[in-house]
Parts: sequence; C-alpha cells; structure tokens
Amino acid sequence: MKDMRSPLPDYLTEVLRGCADSSGALADYIPELARADPDRFALTLVTAEGAMYSVGDDDTEFTIQSVSKPFVYGLALQQRGFGAVLDVIDVEPSGEAFNEVSLERNTGRPLNPMINAGALAAHALVLDGRRPEDSVEDIRCLLSSLAGRELVIDEKVAASELGNSYRNVAIANLLRGYEVFEDDPDEIVEGYIRQCSVTVTTKDLAMMAATLAAGGVQPVTCEEVLSRDVVRQVLSVMATCGMYDAAGDWLSTVGIPAKSGVSGGIIGILPGQLGIAAYSPRLDDHGTSVQGVAAFGRLSRDMNLHLMDAP
Ligand code: GLN
Repeated sequence: MKDMRSPLPDYLTEVLRGCADSSGALADYIPELARADPDRFALTLVTAEGAMYSVGDDDTEFTIQSVSKPFVYGLALQQRGFGAVLDVIDVEPSGEAFNEVSLERNTGRPLNPMINAGALAAHALVLDGRRPEDSVEDIRCLLSSLAGRELVIDEKVAASELGNSYRNVAIANLLRGYEVFEDDPDEIVEGYIRQCSVTVTTKDLAMMAATLAAGGVQPVTCEEVLSRDVVRQVLSVMATCGMYDAAGDWLSTVGIPAKSGVSGGIIGILPGQLGIAAYSPRLDDHGTSVQGVAAFGRLSRDMNLHLMDAP
C-alpha cells in the first residue's frame, strides 16, 4: 500500500521528528487509557483516491473515543433524516469542554453532536428504541465499512470507562429528564462507551477521514458508506465544533475540519483531497493530543492545507 517512490514518507518521518514533544499527560479518568505507551507517535495520510502514506507507530491499536462522534452523527442523519436529528441536537459551538453540560436552556437540546451530551443523544437516535446491542453493532459495522476492514471493541477499555462514567451518566440522566430521548440513560451511556471503545490504528482513521474527503465513498472498497449531504453536514459540524473549546484556534491555524479523542487520535479532512490521522496519547488541557496538534499544524503550513487560503 505504501508508495515508496514518493518523497512523502520521508517528509512525514521528518514531521514526526520535528514535532517530538514530551509535554502533556495521558488521560487517566479512564484508568485503562493511562496504560498506553506515551511515546507512540504515528501519522497517516490517505488521498481521496485511496493512496496511503504512513509513518511511525501506525500499527499501534487504540480506542477511537470521540473520533467516533462525527461518524455516529452521520449514521443518525442517514438513518433518521435531517429533521429528526436537528430537532434533538443543535449545531452551535459550545465553547466548552467535551464533557460539559452544554444544553440549550429551555429545551435541554445538546448544543452540538461533538460534545458528549450531543454524542449521547446521537447514540440514542441510532438506537431508536431497539435493543442496546443493535445500535452498537450498527456503529461497529459503519466504522468497519469506513475503515475498509472489520473492527472490534476493546472490552477492557469499555469496562474501565463504564466503571468511571459518573459524568456521562449525569448528562444522560439530564437528557432523559428533558425528554431528549426516552431510553434508559444507563443503556445509552453503555452503548456510547462501547462505541468509543472500537479499536483502530491511524491507518483505519485516515481511511475513515479519506471516505469523508471523498464525499462518503470509501476510496478502496468503493462502497458509498455515507451520502454526500450527510458528509457535508458532518464536516461542517466538525469544522465548527470538532475541537471543542479550541475549535476557533484550530480553524484559524490549521484550517480544516477535524475531530480529536482522549486516547490521542485526531482526524482531519481536506474535502475532495485528503484524510489525515495522527496518534500520540499525551494530551493537552482540551483532551487533545499534543504531538498530534503539532503535526497537523506543520502539515497545514507545509502543504498549504488551510481551507480559507485563496488558491
Ligand atoms: N469516551 C470518552 C468520554 O466520554 C470520550 C471523550 C473524548 O474522547 N473526548 O469521556
């Protein structure tokens, strides 16, 4: 898969070297995540045509965590339609941390689907009154189709988060109180946590990102996984809300839609062109990979990725 004739792998290796930084800390509110090797660092690019360029620890598996959120939002839009989803989840940046109780004042509607409140509501939309295992299986299949290979759930990480999910349980109960969904809040939290525990590598994440870059068509299998209008909505929300309370800083400096997760993964999408994924588990105060942010910044500058630049 790697194209050895291209100068890109050498350049990407140089990006990893140049972005080496031992600051930040592993997520420890999910005890199992604190067991990650802090020195892992990987970077993978996949073009909208499916060519892959990948360096570093790109076979290291980690749980997808919040990088699942845009895809599950897309699945909810696809399954339930735009009207039903927008009734339940708004598309406004919260300017607050991912685990904040960012709900509309009177309705309890989560401000966007990238924060935990909105992601719990999106999970409930996919569940749609069925058995809890059905939504998790739908999501695992969707993520597998996007990656182009069968993905599995890391039950150890799921159990570790479930035993420490006080905040998400509180948010889910609030949502239930506002009748944002009518399901059992504990079932929603468990399904959402299992969604977050799907295991990936940067190669998988870059394939998923490239599928968004290609308008929803997986570049290698050629399967239309998400429709074009769903992809547009997902990318718009990623651009405005994907990096939580650092979304404005990210959009002005890096300039592409992106999503981070607390295990250390970040995806970014250059529509029509490129999917990018980085992995490094030491996090900044926003719960985002320190080295991942640095690598994206460097790629954006060197490769002129910023979407607001005149061509
Ligand atoms: N499962 C994590 C949580 O709900 C995901 C958070 C994240 O990756 N930002 O806390």
